[in-house]
Amino acid sequence: MKAKGFRDLFELELKDLYSAEKQLTKALPKMAKASTNDELRQAFESHLEETEGQIERLEKIFKQLDISYAKVEKCKAMEGLIEEGKAIMEEGLVPDVLDAALICAAQKVEHYEIAGYGCARTFAQQLGHDEIAELLQETLDEEGTADKKLNEIAESVVNEEAEAAGVGEEE
Ligand code: FE
Ligand code: FE
Ligand code: FE
Ligand code: ZN
Repeated sequence: MKAKGFRDLFELELKDLYSAEKQLTKALPKMAKASTNDELRQAFESHLEETEGQIERLEKIFKQLDISYAKVEKCKAMEGLIEEGKAIMEEGLVPDVLDAALICAAQKVEHYEIAGYGCARTFAQQLGHDEIAELLQETLDEEGTADKKLNEIAESVVNEEAEAAGVGEEE
């Protein structure tokens, strides 16, 4: 096998993000459905829409770079994050506490995406793909906004309601 270089790494990272986003389009509806807080449910639903746009952006990039994306390696990190999210949903937490858990799981996902898109954007810049770097930056900004929104929902209502739910304090 020919030794792989920086351009190959760029390609691998793009494909990893593609797999991650694809997996998320299946997980986000479940997270929305499990949310009891309206604002949280809306945040998941609107991020699902954004995620579909992010997938389109990646497909545009693959086409520009003439990269085949029909079959990509599964992003194991996203698989694991989603797996953990599912596990916490099955812990038997009362609804208000479950909302807090969902936010935590979702923020772990956003941070993974932020790291991936940050690297990919910087690689694109280094490789002189300025337009592609801009597309990746757009997604990176959306992920950052999604993360901040989740923080806001947690700190303004969800965590307080979770604590007030009170179940599990005493046996
Ligand atoms: Fe995303
Ligand atoms: Fe990955
Ligand atoms: Fe995201
Ligand atoms: Zn996202």
